[in-house]
Parts: sequence; structure tokens; C-alpha cells
Amino acid sequence: MIPLSDNVIFYDTEFSSLDPYVGEILSIGLVKLSGESLYLELEYSGEYSTWVKENILGGLNGPKVKREDAVKKIHDFIGSERPYLVANVNCYDAVYTYKLFGIDDQPFYWLPLDFASMLFAHGMDPENYNKQEQSFFERIGVDPTRYHQHNALDDALLLRETYLALSK
Ligand SMILES: [Mg+2]
Repeated sequence: MIPLSDNVIFYDTEFSSLDPYVGEILSIGLVKLSGESLYLELEYSGEYSTWVKENILGGLNGPKVKREDAVKKIHDFIGSERPYLVANVNCYDAVYTYKLFGIDDQPFYWLPLDFASMLFAHGMDPENYNKQEQSFFERIGVDPTRYHQHNALDDALLLRETYLALSK
């Protein structure tokens, strides 16, 4: 892969439901190309889907920030360069991030970039990444077991490392 720009931030979110009408963001991890990172867990008092209860809530142990404080911290982290945001299977990450910031206050380049589509366009099966296929990661020299899957920061860190390995 030959990326268009170095102005990229890798990110991942965890959220309360796959139904975008009721779901909200619970945590977000952002990692710059340099490796500098920001991780936040957000206050939330609504319902959770069963899958989220079983797979996500146990990993949310940090202090919770108000949504407006999260917006400010993310603005401060990102700065004014309007980076390209890259997430893996980014539809939900994008929707819940748009809901958090409001549609007129996005500090990112407006078009969210999807890592799964990048893999597809380079002849690689996105499921190799999603299912952490051993042969795929061995071939590119990345060890996904160093990261906790479904932790938003770890998911963003693994995404950065994989993206860099494929961009060499
Ligand atoms: Mg995740």
C-alpha cells in the first residue's frame, strides 16, 4: 500500500448497541502515525446490548469522562490539521463519532477511511484481519496477541501496526 498522506489517525470505538438509533459511544482509542495515543471512556447511562454486556463492559475499567469533555480532549489531541481517520470496518465507528461531535463539528477530514476496504483493494481478505488469521499476521510480521481485542486503544494500536507493516 502506498498511502496518499501521513496525516492519518487510527482509531476504534466501542459502543452500546449495533442499532445506531439507540447506541452511543462507550470508549474511543486514537493513535497517531507517530504512536502518540489518546484513550477515553465516556459517561453513559442507557441500555446495553447483550453482546456488549458479555464482551465489552468487563474491559471498561477507567474513569469516565463527560461527552463534552471527551469532545474537547479529542479536539486537543487532533489539533487543526484535519487528519484522515482510519478504522477497521468503520461504519459504526464513524456513526457514533459523528453523533458525539455533531455533524458540523467534525475535527477530521469528512470522509472516513475503512481499513477493510484497503485490504480488499489490495487483494487481501478483510476476514484475515477480523479473525486474526495467524498466517496473515505471520506473513507481515505483526503479533496480534500483544493486544486485547475489543479494547478501543488496543484495537487502534493493532490497526496502526498492521497498516505500517503493509505500507513498507
Ligand atoms: Mg474495537
